[in-house]
Amino acid sequence: MDIIHLLPDSVANQIAAGEVVQRPSSVIKELMENSVDAGATSIDVLIVDAGRTSIQVIDDGKGMSETDARLAFERHATSKILRAEDLFSLHTMGFRGEALPSIAAVAQVQLRTRTADHDLGTDLSIEGSRVVSQEPCSCPVGTNIEVRNLFYNVPARRKFLKSNQTELSNIMQDFERIVLVNPSVSFSLTHNGTLITRLPAASLRQRIVSVFEKKLGEQLLSVEVDTSLARITGFVGKPESARKKGAHQFFFVNGRFMRHPYFHKAVMDAFAHLVPEGEQVPYFLYFDVAPENIDVNIHPTKTEIKFENDSAIWQILQAAIRDTLGRFNAVPTIEFDVQGRPDIPTFEQHPGQPVRAPRVEYNPDYNPFQKSASPRRTDHWEQLYDISSATDSAMPVTPQPSDTSLPSADEAEVAQLFSDENDLEMSSEHFQFRGQYILTSVRSGLMIVEQHRAHVRILYEQYMKQMETHSATTQGLLFPEMVQFPPSDAHLVDQISDTLSALGFDISPLGGGSFSIQGIPSGLDGVDAASLLTQMVEEAREERPGHASLHDVHHRLALALARSASIVVGQALTSQEMDTLLSHLFQCANPNMTPTGKSILTVLSPEDIEGFLS
Ligand code: ADP
Ligand code: MG
Repeated sequence: MDIIHLLPDSVANQIAAGEVVQRPSSVIKELMENSVDAGATSIDVLIVDAGRTSIQVIDDGKGMSETDARLAFERHATSKILRAEDLFSLHTMGFRGEALPSIAAVAQVQLRTRTADHDLGTDLSIEGSRVVSQEPCSCPVGTNIEVRNLFYNVPARRKFLKSNQTELSNIMQDFERIVLVNPSVSFSLTHNGTLITRLPAASLRQRIVSVFEKKLGEQLLSVEVDTSLARITGFVGKPESARKKGAHQFFFVNGRFMRHPYFHKAVMDAFAHLVPEGEQVPYFLYFDVAPENIDVNIHPTKTEIKFENDSAIWQILQAAIRDTLGRFNAVPTIEFDVQGRPDIPTFEQHPGQPVRAPRVEYNPDYNPFQKSASPRRTDHWEQLYDISSATDSAMPVTPQPSDTSLPSADEAEVAQLFSDENDLEMSSEHFQFRGQYILTSVRSGLMIVEQHRAHVRILYEQYMKQMETHSATTQGLLFPEMVQFPPSDAHLVDQISDTLSALGFDISPLGGGSFSIQGIPSGLDGVDAASLLTQMVEEAREERPGHASLHDVHHRLALALARSASIVVGQALTSQEMDTLLSHLFQCANPNMTPTGKSILTVLSPEDIEGFLS
């Protein structure tokens, strides 16, 4: 008996759907791309329950005829290519004719569409690949498609969907990628009846600014180069816009978002020596290449794209960025290596060697524990002494070798050393060395404490405790500050709003991604409220909402705040201040290590000292 048979279309479509439709965001991406391909000038996306219940995309594009509407749901039905050769000269987003049949296989779809040359449109309903009805209707020119109850007939996949928060983040991400490449199209995104973002048709620069924050507008330098191999246009951030994480970085090729680690490196190389190591600049770079020079047969959900001449394009890209940086004279303004970042004094350094003066102002009266006093700092104080940079983002906390050559204390030894108040027997006289270390005598020898790390530890524990006990105090701002976040970040702010208020932030949403800051945690005077909040959001973004535990989020935010509020290297401390700092340090649960595992202190025993002198 023969056992091989052809699968019915509905089953084949469901299998194909597994590739194309992975989650609500993939549906939104496919539908939006279809609208763009249809020449729409306005595209509205409406979703309910992060796309689980309903996804609706309304466009004013060219629409479909009655027959085309029906055909659109047949597998490999497409108006975009006719022959295999066409695959090599693609100018549209879609071409496989797979999206609509795949979506209709796993959801309930209603399509209303009309072309300009018909007075009546057509209203088509399909459920799980089955046409339920099709009848004439009156509707505007364009297409209005609604996808309800995604995966209603594939319970296993429906169960597999992540939390609404996570699905929404994915949606925002795909939405961003499409709006950034179609600035002349106006878009809106509405979730559960609330308008999340409305983007009018604009120039590319305006579009970037309205998707992200306003201040990005002043930071962008335009890039433009036209060669026979590729045309590259767009923007890169000025070197001073570099940050440790969360830089917005986008590559697009022929209107499609792509990831390209190799080209990313070209951009980073062009900025080498202009930005501190480990920091990243934002970029929005658009490649136009002849379609035959890229591999078009890419998987619908993949974002990696192969280029025919990638090493030549690498050179072009890097030269274009260098040229941009040179033209805007950005180069001389930011030589971090020589001006911004003083040498960190280390024990290995020869004592006679001059140390460049850090650019912080000294404030001898500063008491880190007096709430009203605030450390004076320059805008770039973090760069003066960044004990964190690369390794700080590494979690969980693991001890790491100190990168400032502070001889690392044997943890167990020190822990034991300070297990009992009496053992500490600290002298009341302390000595500050090079504005960075506090030297004091303890029973077992000479203790050397790194002041910034010590303060970070103290503040970190303080903030963690405040979050647990909701005991934070808020310091009101005289003038509330407004911050505007891109949709994905605005959504994050909502997610972490409880944590933020437990830390002492007083913020309220104004809608459309705007927030007003009325208060910030006490003890942080002198910091810019808006950038502090932005920093918090960036930290939280790193934590991948929906994946991280609340504790991880707390850890991250407490650490970021502690860094913002802590005394810096170069800060002169009075004897009294040093005393306060040390006594707070030894009230900490873990006085030995920073929250990221760097040594805070070491003790040189009399034997060690004898050894040095012998
Ligand atoms: P593809 O985009 O790869 O061609 P799809 O399954 O996404 O495949 O769409 C099938 C066809 O349906 C398209 O080729 C196009 O002709 C038509 N179509 C889909 N969406 C729209 C729309 N919003 N407006 C006009 N035509 C559309
Ligand atoms: Mg398509």
